[in-house]
Amino acid sequence: MDYGIVSLRSNGMFAFLPLGQRVISKLVALIDEEMRSISAQKLSLPLLTSGHLWKITGRWDTTGQELIKVQDRHNKDYVLSPTHEESVTNLVSEVYPLSHRQLPLRLYQTTSKFRDEMKPRFGLLRCKEFLMKDLYTFDDSEEAAVVTYNEICNAYDRVFQRIGVPYLKVAGDCGNIGGNFSHEYHYQAAIGEDTLLLCNACGISTNSQLVANPDDVSCTKCGNQLTKVTGIEVGHTFLLGTKYSESLDAHYQNEKGKPELLQMGCYGLGVSRIMAAVVEVLSQDEYITWPWILAPFKVCLITPKKGSKEEGAKPWVDHLAEYISCMQGFQNDVIVDDRDKLTIGKRVTEAKKTGYPLIIVVGKRACETVPLFEVIDSRSNKVQVLSHKLLLNYLKEVSIEQ
Ligand SMILES: [Zn+2]
Repeated sequence: MDYGIVSLRSNGMFAFLPLGQRVISKLVALIDEEMRSISAQKLSLPLLTSGHLWKITGRWDTTGQELIKVQDRHNKDYVLSPTHEESVTNLVSEVYPLSHRQLPLRLYQTTSKFRDEMKPRFGLLRCKEFLMKDLYTFDDSEEAAVVTYNEICNAYDRVFQRIGVPYLKVAGDCGNIGGNFSHEYHYQAAIGEDTLLLCNACGISTNSQLVANPDDVSCTKCGNQLTKVTGIEVGHTFLLGTKYSESLDAHYQNEKGKPELLQMGCYGLGVSRIMAAVVEVLSQDEYITWPWILAPFKVCLITPKKGSKEEGAKPWVDHLAEYISCMQGFQNDVIVDDRDKLTIGKRVTEAKKTGYPLIIVVGKRACETVPLFEVIDSRSNKVQVLSHKLLLNYLKEVSIEQ
């Protein structure tokens, strides 16, 4: 992926270019909306976490070489955080007293995370620095934590439904916590690194990591033979219990004023990974296709070529740009390709490759007595020639359909 979306800066590290940054901002805004709907509050934790906290939970030693450890000038240890359970639990443990009336508490952030990948690959899918939304929840009982867990899973479902790319939700690896309280969200793709087992009969699905012998499996519920697919993991939900609150002394005060351990959950969405994965799933050859809701711009307007007969139609571009970017569903979502030394044909091809869903050409026919405009839907390659009025009606319809 390049196309002014991202740029590889060094092995496993990418810059988001202006168009890519717009996609990321749209995705973050969509996630923020769904987080607000479940009363999750956004904060921002330092990217460096004290190594001391990671030593307390034991993860300083158990995480392995993927953990990036750094020291300051006083030889104090830090972790360039891949995740923030230690950091956020330590923060909440210092809120004293935290009353049971203040629960549930749901805190999240969207920040860079770090992992020292041995072999960064597949561009943004596996790299050393990536953007992740991580949410941490605190409840006063196991039952309440399960209610929270289900609410968050529903919010994640809404995020993926609104993106609109078919996804799979499977039972994930719970480690030694037990129960069925870890789920993974995947996009099905040939380059996916996870193997998923799906039951077409009863709908049960799991990550093959959970199965002792993934080569010979039938559904534990209905006995049907399972189907194997590969997926790109883009989200993970986890009921943690008291694993972190216990080691980091995070309590709340119950009705009798006595301290009790907080019941926790943690939930991640790979923001930069979702961007890369939807492109992987939807796109063909060198043509990007974006989900409507994430396209960097929804409309690309192409101006007449400089020195051409149709140059006189240029005022139409300014008018359309202004009008459309005020229309419901298109606010500030119009880009004008005014590189008027290039032919219209070349710019249309580039616009299709970048994946702007709608391309409007102001060319020869805009000079006719009744000006006409060419509209290309780059997702279906459907081309229409429409009058000003019909063009605006068409845009309204497309926006409502999405
Ligand atoms: Zn089954």
